[in-house]
Amino acid sequence: MCARLIDGKAHANSLGERIAASLPAFAAQTGRAPGLAVVLVGNDAASEVYVRSKGKMARKLGMDSFEHVLPESAGQEELLSLIAELNADNRVDGILVQLPLPAQLDSLAVISAIDPAKDVDGLHPVSAGRLASGLPGLVSCTPLGCLMLLRSVLGSLAGLDAIVVGRSILVGKPMAQLLLAENCTVMIAHSRTKGLAEKVRRADVVVAAMGQAEMIKGTWIKPGATVIDVGTSRVVRNGRAILVGDVEFASAARSAGAITPVPGGVGPMTIMSLMHNTLIAAHLRKGFAPPRLW
Ligand code: NDP
Repeated sequence: MCARLIDGKAHANSLGERIAASLPAFAAQTGRAPGLAVVLVGNDAASEVYVRSKGKMARKLGMDSFEHVLPESAGQEELLSLIAELNADNRVDGILVQLPLPAQLDSLAVISAIDPAKDVDGLHPVSAGRLASGLPGLVSCTPLGCLMLLRSVLGSLAGLDAIVVGRSILVGKPMAQLLLAENCTVMIAHSRTKGLAEKVRRADVVVAAMGQAEMIKGTWIKPGATVIDVGTSRVVRNGRAILVGDVEFASAARSAGAITPVPGGVGPMTIMSLMHNTLIAAHLRKGFAPPRLW
């Protein structure tokens, strides 16, 4: 391996320390800690783990955490009325509804019901619109974490050719907007893209967010490129279930200049970006200038 390993865990820990250090000043002005409300509907095991870890991280940093669990059978009205309560609750600065929701619920309507000032997941159409318009706002956590990692490796990204593989509202689209705002020349690829290998080969920055285990091969990576692997797929190797990314790590690491591992790359940054967004939302809701932590 010749690529530099981008240690998402270490970056996330360091951001967490900066977040925790900024809380006493907020408490001195408001008499409270920033508050994060996480809503889980149903009992999907993976979602339960994510929700628990978000609440645990908020408390570890010194924030208030409010966890709400609704049954799998919950109806749209029940969920919307909980969102309305959380919108009105002054102790709550950020609201995150864990996705995916059970099939009977309309995710877009639920996300759109969140007060945009509390949209710490950055998925509200107002947040997406502000990002696309170049206005400050709350940015989707995973792409924000990816940008923090890219800046830590590259400093300025201006003028670089970037490819984002994946065009979801959660990752691909906001990632492309963030890279554009950094003055990259951005290509967005998706499942209908032709000649993906050739397109990836031209990129100085590769962000892979498609959920296709190890599809991007080392021979696709331009020598010296920076590779951010968002994808997570569970595969069985030698009888053991392991987590792999969208990039074939071992071969890509021979060509890349820097690369994130899976696990231990983007994942820890996603959760810490949520804490970061909660802190920012708490300041903005009070009319305070938010601390600049990265
Ligand atoms: P989605 O399924 O919503 O989107 C996947 C995107 O990848 C789509 O735009 C799809 O194209 C594109 N795609 C699928 N197959 C191919 C292909 N063969 N070639 C090119 N593009 C393809 O997923 P998400 O954006 O929500 O997540 C992507 C991955 O990132 C998943 O593995 C997810 O688990 C992971 N993830 C990890 C996080 C972390 O913190 N580590 C956080 C969030 C996500 P099309 O639009 O044409 O269908």
